[in-house]
Amino acid sequence: MHTFKSISTCNLCGNTEVTPISDIDRNGKPLTTVMCTFCGLVRTDPLPTKEEINEFYQTKYWNEYKDYHPKLKHIYRNAHRALNRYKRDQHYFKNAQSILEIGSGRGEFVYLLNYLNLHAQGLEPHTIYSQYSREEFGIPVTSAMLEQASYAPNTFDLITSHHVVEHLCDPAIELRRMNRWLKEGGHLIVEVPNIEANRHAPKNRFHFAHIYNFNAITLEELAYRQGFSFIRHTLGGDHENHLHMIFQKKGLPTGQHKYTAAKLKENFEHLHKKVHSHTSFDHYLTLTPYLRTFNKLRNGISEKLIVRNFKQGKDVANYVFKASTCI
Ligand SMILES: [Zn+2]
Repeated sequence: MHTFKSISTCNLCGNTEVTPISDIDRNGKPLTTVMCTFCGLVRTDPLPTKEEINEFYQTKYWNEYKDYHPKLKHIYRNAHRALNRYKRDQHYFKNAQSILEIGSGRGEFVYLLNYLNLHAQGLEPHTIYSQYSREEFGIPVTSAMLEQASYAPNTFDLITSHHVVEHLCDPAIELRRMNRWLKEGGHLIVEVPNIEANRHAPKNRFHFAHIYNFNAITLEELAYRQGFSFIRHTLGGDHENHLHMIFQKKGLPTGQHKYTAAKLKENFEHLHKKVHSHTSFDHYLTLTPYLRTFNKLRNGISEKLIVRNFKQGKDVANYVFKASTCI
């Protein structure tokens, strides 16, 4: 196994020794991805600078333009996702007086929670999306990056963050920030891509926007060190490609570790083996890539047929929520 010293330290364990696991992103462009040999946390190496990230989001990832109107089929799809998220963790939502969704996007999930008379608000750095969510759904959403938001300590009973933590430059600091915003005993729901899943072909696994890639052990240990106790984790999505975890604020961060160095080393060895055992040859011999293409086509046609009856995103979301039997 080839290892080298990275110029950056591991966000979880602070070590610098890594082993390379990929040299391209999902578009075939050069992108070095490494795994920490002490704990198994996967990251881009070298880590992108703030300027590179800002440039990426402003020019490539988000197509900002005036008079933004999302495609109604995307609202339809996200309204269903919102329902599934609510259904899965409804116990936590029902018992929360104040909820913050970090990375609220176009607002479908915060809208659902408000539709159910829960007190939820969003935080969304994409100004066009957050403006759309306020105007279309009438929900409270702040336009800001995480580090710019200034909620008072002990404000929320529940914070949710779906597909955000993997994008952060310093997830440890941001989890600590979330911990401060939560009330004592409050809950944090986090969902990230699961590095152990075999949904994507190896060449499609990494891309620039995902700076960190987690498995259950690395995410749990990272959250533990920022003051969270672990409640449960589930694997969801298509071929278990989503890692969904629930934590509880157990006080302020104390610097304690949950897992021993030996257990983290074991995690590295397990993950290293797992990532390398998923080869392109094996991937294309399974039904996974073909079924996904077929399902995408089928769902796309049915979404188009349904949303052609609507003009507004809010009407589409209301239609999905009213038809649901789970709320
Ligand atoms: Zn590490």
